[in-house]
Amino acid sequence: MADPMIAGNWKMHGTVESAAQLASQLAGQWTDKSSVEMVIFPPAVHISTVASTLAGSNIAIGAQNLSQYDSGAFTGEISATMLSDLGCKYALVGHSERRTEFGEGNSCVAEKFVAAQAAGLIPILCVGETLHQRQQGQTMAVVAEQITAVVDLAGLKSVCGAVIAYEPVWAIGTGETASPQQAQQVHDGIRAQLGVEGLYTSLLYGGSVNGDNARQLFGQPDINGGLVGGASLEADGFLNIAQQLIEQQ
Ligand code: PEP
Repeated sequence: MADPMIAGNWKMHGTVESAAQLASQLAGQWTDKSSVEMVIFPPAVHISTVASTLAGSNIAIGAQNLSQYDSGAFTGEISATMLSDLGCKYALVGHSERRTEFGEGNSCVAEKFVAAQAAGLIPILCVGETLHQRQQGQTMAVVAEQITAVVDLAGLKSVCGAVIAYEPVWAIGTGETASPQQAQQVHDGIRAQLGVEGLYTSLLYGGSVNGDNARQLFGQPDINGGLVGGASLEADGFLNIAQQLIEQQ
């Protein structure tokens, strides 16, 4: 069985004070001793604060983005080594907002994946199709191409040792969710692409996960957890989603 995970992407929200408060609420209530891994992705400027707040808890921290470069004259960038030094365990790579708003293509995403792993971070590789691509019947081809680009650079074993999040672009932040069957179909396709090496790779679903749809999504055989955006900004709601994952184990 792949390890279950519940991940909260806070995106570009909050202040130092609100980040500390949210982290403290989660740390106070997340006493789960099961195998479910909770990880949160604060804005980079709040990672230190959140890391201090979470010290001693069993909640991990990740970065929403990283540079593909390790150090040097790259103004404004943050390296994987710096993130690891701050206490990050994970890094999102290829989130659709990075792909669409910041022009990150498959080769850039692959370089970031390799940089993350080289610094000891576990990448969460985000893949997913646009609505147009889905309507054209290209969903599996798009997702497979996004994964292949990383496999070509990092190797299949490295990709299978990471986490993959299937996030249909049309479902992110829109309130639209892929049906459990649609999500399972893609997860099954990803599992098939990874082959036997990927039998234990954690595959997360992301795209408007909330307290009403989490149970059914997490009940699918190849969905090992969720990457949650908007609904992770409120402690009780996020913990409720996490609880629904625990109940599926
Ligand atoms: C995300 O940020 O990865 C995400 C899935 O956001 P939301 O849950 O708000 O759709």
